[in-house]
Amino acid sequence: MNINSVNLSEVTTYRFGGICKNFISIESEDELSHLEKIIKGKQNVILGKGSNVAFSDKEFYGNVLTPKFEELTLSDNFEIKVGSSVFLPKLSRFFKDNSLSNAEFLIGIPGTVGGAIKMNAGAYGWEFSELLKDLRCFNLETFEIEILKKEELEFSYRKSKNLDNKIILSATLTVEKGDKKIIDKNLSDFNEKRKKSQPAAIYNAGSVFKNTSDYFAGELIDNAGLKGYKIDGVGVSEKHANFFVAEKGAKAISLFKLVQYVKDKVSTKFGITLEEEIIFIGDFTK
Ligand SMILES: Cc1cc2nc3c(=O)[nH]c(=O)nc-3n(C[C@H](O)[C@H](O)[C@H](O)COP(=O)(O)OP(=O)(O)OC[C@H]3O[C@@H](n4cnc5c(N)ncnc54)[C@H](O)[C@@H]3O)c2cc1C
Repeated sequence: MNINSVNLSEVTTYRFGGICKNFISIESEDELSHLEKIIKGKQNVILGKGSNVAFSDKEFYGNVLTPKFEELTLSDNFEIKVGSSVFLPKLSRFFKDNSLSNAEFLIGIPGTVGGAIKMNAGAYGWEFSELLKDLRCFNLETFEIEILKKEELEFSYRKSKNLDNKIILSATLTVEKGDKKIIDKNLSDFNEKRKKSQPAAIYNAGSVFKNTSDYFAGELIDNAGLKGYKIDGVGVSEKHANFFVAEKGAKAISLFKLVQYVKDKVSTKFGITLEEEIIFIGDFTK
Protein backbone atom coordinates (compact mmCIF):
# COMPACT_ATOMS: atom_id res chain seq x y z
CA MET A 1 0.00 0.00 0.00
CA ASN A 2 1.29 3.46 -0.84
CA ILE A 3 0.25 6.58 1.03
CA ASN A 4 1.29 9.76 -0.72
CA SER A 5 0.66 13.43 -0.91
CA VAL A 6 -0.95 13.99 -4.30
CA ASN A 7 -2.29 17.00 -6.10
CA LEU A 8 -5.79 15.83 -7.01
CA SER A 9 -5.67 17.86 -10.21
CA GLU A 10 -3.25 15.21 -11.49
CA VAL A 11 -5.66 12.33 -11.05
CA THR A 12 -8.94 13.64 -12.46
CA THR A 13 -10.04 14.37 -16.03
CA TYR A 14 -11.15 17.93 -15.17
CA ARG A 15 -7.67 18.59 -13.72
CA PHE A 16 -9.28 20.24 -10.68
CA GLY A 17 -8.34 19.71 -7.07
CA GLY A 18 -6.02 20.72 -4.27
CA ILE A 19 -3.55 18.65 -2.35
CA CYS A 20 -4.54 15.44 -0.54
CA LYS A 21 -2.00 14.17 1.98
CA ASN A 22 -3.77 10.83 2.44
CA PHE A 23 -3.85 9.47 -1.09
CA ILE A 24 -3.88 5.71 -0.60
CA SER A 25 -3.21 3.25 -3.43
CA ILE A 26 -4.28 -0.29 -2.68
CA GLU A 27 -2.55 -2.91 -4.74
CA SER A 28 -3.69 -6.21 -3.24
CA GLU A 29 -6.47 -7.58 -1.08
CA ASP A 30 -3.91 -8.42 1.62
CA GLU A 31 -3.37 -4.71 2.16
CA LEU A 32 -7.02 -4.14 3.08
CA SER A 33 -6.43 -5.37 6.62
CA HIS A 34 -4.22 -2.31 7.28
CA LEU A 35 -6.91 0.17 6.31
CA GLU A 36 -8.79 0.21 9.63
CA LYS A 37 -5.82 1.82 11.40
CA ILE A 38 -5.06 4.23 8.59
CA ILE A 39 -8.41 5.72 7.63
CA LYS A 40 -10.23 6.12 10.95
CA GLY A 41 -12.19 9.28 11.58
CA LYS A 42 -11.79 10.86 8.17
CA GLN A 43 -14.07 11.14 5.15
CA ASN A 44 -13.27 8.49 2.54
CA VAL A 45 -13.47 9.06 -1.18
CA ILE A 46 -12.88 6.14 -3.52
CA LEU A 47 -11.39 7.19 -6.81
CA GLY A 48 -11.13 5.44 -10.15
CA LYS A 49 -10.00 7.53 -13.11
CA GLY A 50 -11.66 10.63 -11.69
CA SER A 51 -13.70 11.05 -14.87
CA ASN A 52 -16.97 11.84 -13.12
CA VAL A 53 -15.81 13.99 -10.23
CA ALA A 54 -14.76 17.57 -9.52
CA PHE A 55 -12.65 18.13 -6.42
CA SER A 56 -12.60 21.56 -4.83
CA ASP A 57 -9.47 23.68 -5.32
CA LYS A 58 -8.79 23.58 -1.57
CA GLU A 59 -6.81 20.95 0.29
CA PHE A 60 -8.83 17.76 0.77
CA TYR A 61 -8.40 16.59 4.37
CA GLY A 62 -10.09 13.20 3.96
CA ASN A 63 -8.68 9.97 2.55
CA VAL A 64 -8.68 9.30 -1.17
CA LEU A 65 -8.50 5.55 -1.73
CA THR A 66 -7.65 4.25 -5.16
CA PRO A 67 -7.72 0.52 -5.85
CA LYS A 68 -5.27 -0.93 -8.35
CA PHE A 69 -6.86 -4.22 -9.32
CA GLU A 70 -6.15 -5.05 -12.95
CA GLU A 71 -7.29 -8.70 -13.28
CA LEU A 72 -9.07 -9.48 -16.55
CA THR A 73 -9.84 -13.12 -17.39
CA LEU A 74 -12.45 -15.13 -19.24
CA SER A 75 -13.31 -18.40 -17.50
CA ASP A 76 -14.33 -21.71 -19.04
CA ASN A 77 -17.86 -21.28 -17.72
CA PHE A 78 -18.13 -18.12 -19.79
CA GLU A 79 -17.81 -15.39 -17.22
CA ILE A 80 -15.38 -12.50 -17.08
CA LYS A 81 -13.58 -11.69 -13.85
CA VAL A 82 -12.50 -8.07 -13.90
CA GLY A 83 -10.59 -5.95 -11.42
CA SER A 84 -12.21 -2.67 -10.42
CA SER A 85 -9.46 -0.48 -11.84
CA VAL A 86 -9.58 -1.92 -15.36
CA PHE A 87 -10.10 0.90 -17.87
CA LEU A 88 -13.47 0.61 -19.65
CA PRO A 89 -12.12 0.92 -23.23
CA LYS A 90 -9.68 -1.91 -22.39
CA LEU A 91 -12.57 -4.06 -21.16
CA SER A 92 -14.52 -3.24 -24.31
CA ARG A 93 -11.59 -4.38 -26.48
CA PHE A 94 -11.21 -7.56 -24.39
CA PHE A 95 -14.85 -8.41 -25.19
CA LYS A 96 -14.18 -7.75 -28.87
CA ASP A 97 -10.98 -9.80 -28.95
CA ASN A 98 -12.91 -12.75 -27.54
CA SER A 99 -15.87 -12.20 -29.92
CA LEU A 100 -18.17 -11.29 -27.04
CA SER A 101 -20.92 -8.75 -27.54
CA ASN A 102 -22.69 -6.13 -25.37
CA ALA A 103 -19.66 -4.12 -24.19
CA GLU A 104 -19.19 -1.99 -27.29
CA PHE A 105 -20.81 0.99 -25.55
CA LEU A 106 -17.89 1.18 -23.12
CA ILE A 107 -15.36 2.04 -25.81
CA GLY A 108 -15.49 5.82 -25.29
CA ILE A 109 -16.12 6.03 -21.53
CA PRO A 110 -12.80 7.02 -19.88
CA GLY A 111 -13.46 5.49 -16.45
CA THR A 112 -12.84 2.27 -14.55
CA VAL A 113 -15.04 -0.72 -13.83
CA GLY A 114 -15.47 0.46 -10.19
CA GLY A 115 -16.64 3.90 -11.30
CA ALA A 116 -18.92 2.39 -13.96
CA ILE A 117 -20.61 0.11 -11.42
CA LYS A 118 -21.09 2.87 -8.85
CA MET A 119 -22.44 5.27 -11.49
CA ASN A 120 -24.18 2.60 -13.58
CA ALA A 121 -22.42 4.19 -16.52
CA GLY A 122 -24.13 3.87 -19.85
CA ALA A 123 -24.38 5.01 -23.43
CA TYR A 124 -26.44 4.36 -26.55
CA GLY A 125 -29.17 2.52 -24.64
CA TRP A 126 -26.79 0.28 -22.67
CA GLU A 127 -25.93 0.36 -18.97
CA PHE A 128 -23.09 -1.32 -17.09
CA SER A 129 -25.56 -3.15 -14.81
CA GLU A 130 -26.63 -5.26 -17.81
CA LEU A 131 -23.21 -6.93 -17.83
CA LEU A 132 -22.86 -7.45 -14.09
CA LYS A 133 -23.49 -10.70 -12.21
CA ASP A 134 -21.94 -9.89 -8.83
CA LEU A 135 -19.05 -8.02 -7.22
CA ARG A 136 -16.57 -8.21 -4.36
CA CYS A 137 -16.15 -5.12 -2.24
CA PHE A 138 -14.50 -4.06 1.01
CA ASN A 139 -16.77 -2.40 3.53
CA LEU A 140 -15.03 0.57 5.20
CA GLU A 141 -17.41 0.45 8.17
CA THR A 142 -17.20 -3.27 9.05
CA PHE A 143 -13.75 -3.79 7.46
CA GLU A 144 -14.96 -6.99 5.86
CA ILE A 145 -15.18 -8.24 2.32
CA GLU A 146 -18.71 -8.61 0.94
CA ILE A 147 -20.01 -10.28 -2.17
CA LEU A 148 -23.02 -8.43 -3.55
CA LYS A 149 -25.30 -9.73 -6.27
CA LYS A 150 -26.51 -7.40 -8.98
CA GLU A 151 -30.05 -7.45 -7.50
CA GLU A 152 -28.73 -6.05 -4.20
CA LEU A 153 -27.39 -2.96 -5.95
CA GLU A 154 -30.83 -1.76 -7.13
CA PHE A 155 -29.49 -0.10 -10.26
CA SER A 156 -31.32 2.72 -11.97
CA TYR A 157 -30.27 5.49 -14.36
CA ARG A 158 -26.67 6.47 -13.37
CA LYS A 159 -27.32 5.17 -9.88
CA SER A 160 -26.60 2.18 -7.65
CA LYS A 161 -27.46 1.47 -4.03
CA ASN A 162 -25.69 -0.28 -1.12
CA LEU A 163 -22.21 0.78 -2.22
CA ASP A 164 -21.60 3.79 0.02
CA ASN A 165 -18.27 3.59 1.84
CA LYS A 166 -17.40 0.34 0.05
CA ILE A 167 -14.42 -0.20 -2.21
CA ILE A 168 -15.36 -2.29 -5.22
CA LEU A 169 -12.51 -4.75 -5.73
CA SER A 170 -13.63 -6.89 -8.65
CA ALA A 171 -16.69 -7.99 -10.54
CA THR A 172 -18.05 -11.02 -12.39
CA LEU A 173 -19.61 -10.22 -15.73
CA THR A 174 -21.91 -12.42 -17.76
CA VAL A 175 -21.07 -12.61 -21.44
CA GLU A 176 -22.66 -13.57 -24.71
CA LYS A 177 -20.98 -14.82 -27.86
CA GLY A 178 -21.27 -12.32 -30.66
CA ASP A 179 -20.37 -11.82 -34.30
CA LYS A 180 -16.99 -10.11 -34.60
CA LYS A 181 -18.05 -8.14 -37.67
CA ILE A 182 -21.09 -6.69 -35.88
CA ILE A 183 -19.01 -5.92 -32.79
CA ASP A 184 -16.43 -4.11 -34.94
CA LYS A 185 -19.14 -2.14 -36.68
CA ASN A 186 -20.77 -1.12 -33.37
CA LEU A 187 -17.39 -0.01 -32.04
CA SER A 188 -16.68 2.21 -35.00
CA ASP A 189 -20.26 3.58 -35.04
CA PHE A 190 -20.03 4.50 -31.36
CA ASN A 191 -16.60 6.08 -31.81
CA GLU A 192 -17.92 8.09 -34.74
CA LYS A 193 -21.01 9.25 -32.82
CA ARG A 194 -18.87 10.46 -29.93
CA LYS A 195 -16.48 12.31 -32.21
CA LYS A 196 -19.41 14.11 -33.83
CA SER A 197 -21.32 15.01 -30.69
CA GLN A 198 -18.80 15.56 -27.90
CA PRO A 199 -15.91 17.93 -27.32
CA ALA A 200 -12.62 16.02 -27.55
CA ALA A 201 -9.34 16.39 -25.72
CA ILE A 202 -10.40 19.14 -23.39
CA TYR A 203 -10.83 18.95 -19.65
CA ASN A 204 -14.31 17.75 -18.69
CA ALA A 205 -16.11 14.91 -16.88
CA GLY A 206 -18.72 13.93 -19.44
CA SER A 207 -22.37 14.86 -18.93
CA VAL A 208 -22.81 17.41 -16.16
CA PHE A 209 -26.52 16.71 -15.56
CA LYS A 210 -28.63 13.57 -15.72
CA ASN A 211 -31.18 13.11 -18.49
CA THR A 212 -34.65 11.78 -17.71
CA SER A 213 -37.39 10.18 -19.79
CA ASP A 214 -38.94 13.69 -20.02
CA TYR A 215 -35.96 15.69 -21.24
CA PHE A 216 -32.35 15.80 -22.39
CA ALA A 217 -30.45 18.19 -20.12
CA GLY A 218 -28.31 19.38 -23.05
CA GLU A 219 -31.38 20.38 -25.03
CA LEU A 220 -32.80 22.43 -22.13
CA ILE A 221 -29.46 24.18 -21.63
CA ASP A 222 -29.19 24.88 -25.35
CA ASN A 223 -32.80 26.17 -25.48
CA ALA A 224 -32.05 28.44 -22.53
CA GLY A 225 -29.44 30.08 -24.78
CA LEU A 226 -26.49 28.99 -22.66
CA LYS A 227 -24.22 27.30 -25.21
CA GLY A 228 -20.83 28.99 -24.96
CA TYR A 229 -21.66 30.75 -21.67
CA LYS A 230 -18.51 30.94 -19.55
CA ILE A 231 -17.45 31.71 -16.00
CA ASP A 232 -13.72 32.29 -15.49
CA GLY A 233 -12.43 29.74 -17.98
CA VAL A 234 -15.15 27.11 -17.59
CA GLY A 235 -17.83 27.14 -20.26
CA VAL A 236 -20.84 25.31 -21.66
CA SER A 237 -19.52 23.45 -24.69
CA GLU A 238 -20.57 24.81 -28.07
CA LYS A 239 -20.64 21.24 -29.35
CA HIS A 240 -22.73 19.61 -26.61
CA ALA A 241 -24.49 21.80 -24.05
CA ASN A 242 -24.41 19.12 -21.32
CA PHE A 243 -20.59 19.12 -21.38
CA PHE A 244 -18.91 21.95 -19.47
CA VAL A 245 -15.29 22.29 -20.48
CA ALA A 246 -12.45 23.86 -18.58
CA GLU A 247 -9.52 25.78 -19.96
CA LYS A 248 -6.04 24.95 -18.71
CA GLY A 249 -5.56 26.47 -15.25
CA ALA A 250 -9.31 27.04 -14.63
CA LYS A 251 -10.66 26.47 -11.13
CA ALA A 252 -13.23 24.04 -9.77
CA ILE A 253 -15.09 26.92 -8.12
CA SER A 254 -15.84 28.32 -11.61
CA LEU A 255 -17.40 25.00 -12.64
CA PHE A 256 -19.38 24.97 -9.40
CA LYS A 257 -20.68 28.50 -10.07
CA LEU A 258 -21.47 27.67 -13.70
CA VAL A 259 -23.49 24.61 -12.63
CA GLN A 260 -25.53 26.75 -10.18
CA TYR A 261 -26.02 29.45 -12.83
CA VAL A 262 -27.23 26.98 -15.47
CA LYS A 263 -29.57 25.28 -12.97
CA ASP A 264 -31.10 28.65 -12.07
CA LYS A 265 -31.60 29.69 -15.68
CA VAL A 266 -33.14 26.35 -16.72
CA SER A 267 -35.38 26.35 -13.66
CA THR A 268 -36.60 29.90 -14.34
CA LYS A 269 -37.21 29.25 -18.01
CA PHE A 270 -38.66 25.71 -17.95
CA GLY A 271 -39.59 25.06 -14.29
CA ILE A 272 -37.27 22.02 -14.25
CA THR A 273 -34.57 21.40 -11.63
CA LEU A 274 -31.62 19.68 -13.26
CA GLU A 275 -29.84 17.02 -11.21
CA GLU A 276 -26.05 16.83 -11.32
CA GLU A 277 -24.42 13.66 -12.65
CA ILE A 278 -20.91 14.87 -11.86
CA ILE A 279 -19.94 14.64 -8.20
CA PHE A 280 -18.52 17.69 -6.40
CA ILE A 281 -16.18 16.73 -3.57
CA GLY A 282 -14.72 19.00 -0.90
CA ASP A 283 -15.30 22.55 0.24
CA PHE A 284 -16.90 24.86 -2.34
CA THR A 285 -17.60 27.73 0.03
CA LYS A 286 -15.52 30.82 -0.71
C1 LIG B 1 -15.15 12.53 -22.14
C2 LIG B 1 -16.03 11.80 -21.19
C3 LIG B 1 -17.08 11.03 -21.67
C4 LIG B 1 -17.92 10.35 -20.79
N1 LIG B 1 -18.95 9.60 -21.30
C5 LIG B 1 -19.76 8.94 -20.47
C6 LIG B 1 -20.83 8.15 -20.99
O1 LIG B 1 -21.06 8.03 -22.18
N2 LIG B 1 -21.64 7.51 -20.10
C7 LIG B 1 -21.44 7.58 -18.75
O2 LIG B 1 -22.20 6.97 -17.99
N3 LIG B 1 -20.42 8.32 -18.24
C8 LIG B 1 -19.58 8.99 -19.05
N4 LIG B 1 -18.55 9.75 -18.54
C9 LIG B 1 -18.40 9.84 -17.07
C10 LIG B 1 -17.45 8.80 -16.44
O3 LIG B 1 -16.44 8.41 -17.35
C11 LIG B 1 -18.20 7.55 -15.94
O4 LIG B 1 -19.14 7.87 -14.94
C12 LIG B 1 -17.22 6.50 -15.36
O5 LIG B 1 -17.90 5.32 -15.11
C13 LIG B 1 -16.55 6.98 -14.07
O6 LIG B 1 -15.51 6.08 -13.76
P1 LIG B 1 -14.24 6.56 -12.92
O7 LIG B 1 -13.38 5.38 -12.68
O8 LIG B 1 -13.59 7.72 -13.57
O9 LIG B 1 -14.96 7.02 -11.59
P2 LIG B 1 -14.59 8.29 -10.67
O10 LIG B 1 -14.90 9.53 -11.40
O11 LIG B 1 -13.23 8.12 -10.13
O12 LIG B 1 -15.67 8.08 -9.52
C14 LIG B 1 -17.06 8.17 -9.81
C15 LIG B 1 -17.85 7.57 -8.65
O13 LIG B 1 -17.56 6.17 -8.56
C16 LIG B 1 -17.00 5.85 -7.28
N5 LIG B 1 -15.97 4.83 -7.50
C17 LIG B 1 -14.96 4.83 -8.42
N6 LIG B 1 -14.24 3.70 -8.32
C18 LIG B 1 -14.80 2.97 -7.30
C19 LIG B 1 -14.51 1.73 -6.68
N7 LIG B 1 -13.50 0.94 -7.09
N8 LIG B 1 -15.28 1.32 -5.65
C20 LIG B 1 -16.33 2.06 -5.22
N9 LIG B 1 -16.66 3.24 -5.76
C21 LIG B 1 -15.91 3.70 -6.79
C22 LIG B 1 -16.44 7.17 -6.76
O14 LIG B 1 -16.34 7.15 -5.34
C23 LIG B 1 -17.46 8.15 -7.28
O15 LIG B 1 -18.60 8.13 -6.46
C24 LIG B 1 -17.70 10.43 -19.39
C25 LIG B 1 -16.62 11.19 -18.91
C26 LIG B 1 -15.79 11.86 -19.80
C27 LIG B 1 -14.64 12.65 -19.26
